[in-house]
Amino acid sequence: MTIRLDGRPVADAIDRATRASVAESGSGAMAPSLVSVHRGLDSPFRFYLRRQAKAAAALGITFRDMALKPGDGPEELVASLRSLDRDPSVHGVLVEHPLPPPFDFFRAVDELRPEKDVDGVSPRNLGRLVGQHPVHVPAVARAAFAVAQHYHLPMSGEATAVVGRSTTVGLPLAVLLASAPPGGNAAVTVLHSKSGDLAQRLRGVRTIFSCVGRPGLLNRETVPEGAHVVDVGVSSIPDPTRPGTSIAVGDADAKSLDGWAASLTPVPGGVGPVTVAELMAATARSWRILGRGSGDR
Ligand code: NAP
Repeated sequence: MTIRLDGRPVADAIDRATRASVAESGSGAMAPSLVSVHRGLDSPFRFYLRRQAKAAAALGITFRDMALKPGDGPEELVASLRSLDRDPSVHGVLVEHPLPPPFDFFRAVDELRPEKDVDGVSPRNLGRLVGQHPVHVPAVARAAFAVAQHYHLPMSGEATAVVGRSTTVGLPLAVLLASAPPGGNAAVTVLHSKSGDLAQRLRGVRTIFSCVGRPGLLNRETVPEGAHVVDVGVSSIPDPTRPGTSIAVGDADAKSLDGWAASLTPVPGGVGPVTVAELMAATARSWRILGRGSGDR
């Protein structure tokens, strides 16, 4: 039987710690605050905004979404982030990504001091992760790692693969998994679109983290029998049961892997809710680090 690695209990445990840390400050203090910057409500990001707003409200975190105005370009985005970075009432800032050209996502998020970049994706935070001194690690990488730890998946010293090498998801996760404790101590192979035959590359791997965005990539043909699969990928496909609507699916073909993989995270309900919980936890952490209101760099 393939064990379902539900993300909800992992997210709940993270949320409990966040709620307790926010409550510790007492009623007179400024609440932690998170601002989500995006291109407007037409973008696919709107689904994440709703989830962020709900999670923040449940934890006592003030949440605001800031849409760029129609016609705003890279300079306006940089100016907004510069101003949020200086604003002492803001503790965390999240920027929609990927952003289409001419926006330069990394140039823009580099305007944020590492503490305010609660998604851990700015060049400075990514560099600190490699240097083993992270302020914030990308939320999705922390989430996938937290799920693997919660369910005691084979990691330390074990053959582990990360499929996908993007700067914001696959690579930081690989660094986290390969790092000495509190990292995963794993023997990590990073795979991508040019790394050749996936089945061959995954032979002998005990835990697979898939960060691609290709439904069906992981199945009985590509995954070794008895491997554990943490499915980070999310793709939107037409819902065959309700024409005109769409559903979210992962990289794994759950039907094909049922009874074949040792365990699998579902999509939705696996890494996704944990990513949101990790973002909120990072916002509360920044609020503590920044002294609940310092504007100094
Ligand atoms: P991305 O920038 O498009 O990167 C995808 C990666 O997959 C690339 O490194 C690409 O290789 C690799 N790839 C593509 N086809 C492949 C194949 N056939 N075999 C092996 N590798 C292949 O996407 P991303 O931003 O990293 O996001 C990855 C997935 O995670 C997406 O589905 C996204 O929606 C999801 N995501 C989930 C969460 C969550 O909370 N669950 C959060 C963020 C993102 P190349 O580098 O060679 O092109």
